[in-house]
Amino acid sequence: MEKNIGEIKHLCTGCGICAGMCKHIEIYDDAFGFYRPKVKNSCVECGKCVSVCPSITPYREEDIPFCKDSRLGYDFNTGYYIACYDGYVESNRRNCASGGMCSELLISLLKYQQVDAVYCAVSNDDAHKFYVCGRLTTEEEIRRNARSAYYPIEISEALKSIRNRDEKIAIVCLPCQAKALRLAMKQDLKLRHNIKYIIGLVCGGLPGKAMVEYIAKTKKIEIDEIKKITFREKDDEIRCNNCQLKMYDEDGILKVTSRYHGESFGFAYFNKLFYSESCWVCDDVFAEYADVVFGDAWYKENIPNTLGTSICITRNAELDELICEMGENIHRVDVAKVVEAQRNVSVVGKKKHLSAGFARIYRKKGFSVSNRLEEKLGLKDKIKCQLYLLFFNYNKNLWMDYRMGNISFNTLDQKYHRSVKMKKRIHL
Ligand SMILES: Cc1cc2nc3c(=O)[nH]c(=O)nc-3n(C[C@H](O)[C@H](O)[C@H](O)COP(=O)(O)OP(=O)(O)OC[C@H]3O[C@@H](n4cnc5c(N)ncnc54)[C@H](O)[C@@H]3O)c2cc1C
Repeated sequence: MEKNIGEIKHLCTGCGICAGMCKHIEIYDDAFGFYRPKVKNSCVECGKCVSVCPSITPYREEDIPFCKDSRLGYDFNTGYYIACYDGYVESNRRNCASGGMCSELLISLLKYQQVDAVYCAVSNDDAHKFYVCGRLTTEEEIRRNARSAYYPIEISEALKSIRNRDEKIAIVCLPCQAKALRLAMKQDLKLRHNIKYIIGLVCGGLPGKAMVEYIAKTKKIEIDEIKKITFREKDDEIRCNNCQLKMYDEDGILKVTSRYHGESFGFAYFNKLFYSESCWVCDDVFAEYADVVFGDAWYKENIPNTLGTSICITRNAELDELICEMGENIHRVDVAKVVEAQRNVSVVGKKKHLSAGFARIYRKKGFSVSNRLEEKLGLKDKIKCQLYLLFFNYNKNLWMDYRMGNISFNTLDQKYHRSVKMKKRIHL
């Protein structure tokens, strides 16, 4: 068996857990702005980094503490659950990503002293690192750092901070990071003791930092001029599914607004121009390793609304109780309803079906892939997977050409648009 992740061909998620567990690994940014680990020459080949890597380690029930609880239900699409909910918290709704349920839970955890601190996405005024995984201890800080960060965040430094303090914490993270955290907690007593709750976010895929650079550039702005970005500020005239990206300069002046519908944010995000390669093979929609997970209630009837609604799946009885106390606008729903919310935006189809086809392609190329689905794809879907990756790699190479100065930004943008047109013509 290989002794470090540098020796294993795999699709890194950029979670940073390996570097948080081992001083012989450092993190760097690749050309798309994804975090990558570099194993130093001082590596002692203990194999710890391999054993916490979410893209190498297969899904194993023994790594998930709550799955032994016979009171929990199980669904193929969601994983284990106590109960499912949808709704919103009126006081948070306007300033949160969806219905503000996630922030409300974090506030309750601090208020009832269930935890001493919360780690989540925190805005950072560095154009090359707009978000970090930060430690928050007050309601005001939680409110200030609500909404979604469609931006890479690695948690190596957070892991060290959690280990070095004597306190109970909750951490908000994506499905791949939730899995990596569980694997790390298995090995590290201090982490196991201090991390009380893992709070997951439903994830349809993560773009690299290059996405915001590209969007700024389409508006003739250099990313270095920007000090702050937000991804889901709400507006009275804008429907909740037309998410908007906003960029501000150091004086707080709004420099860029770009939305999902008909603008470069949606163009780059939905066409997966800057998608993490690891996301193709991910089969986890609902952060199955997390104690609770939040997502958007993408029901058809919610689309005309300007304010969002959250969905939630609980897997921890204490958190379930807190969710039930969040007020009259939170309703218990059937598991099929939360699955429908993600099926409507193709996340279920991609992760719980097509990802098996992508996994097959990558395995054939010699990659170690942790996707656990049985491959039941018909010929049409197998061809679809090949075509998706063909376009993905073509667009990736265009960015590399632009980065190396071989093509201008205008040429890059024209070629992106041409390739997307072609993709649509063949109904991809
Ligand atoms: C990359 C990404 C992809 C997503 N894809 C989907 C999807 O396909 N379908 C779907 O339904 N939902 C998706 N979500 C989740 C969705 O955007 C909302 O986060 C979720 O609906 C919770 O909304 P809320 O109003 O309850 O959360 P809020 O009350 O706004 O609180 C959100 C909390 O999450 C923290 N946070 C935000 N982003 C990150 C991050 N990257 N890492 C760690 N902490 C973070 C914030 O700091 C805040 O504390 C995605 C989120 C991300 C970050």
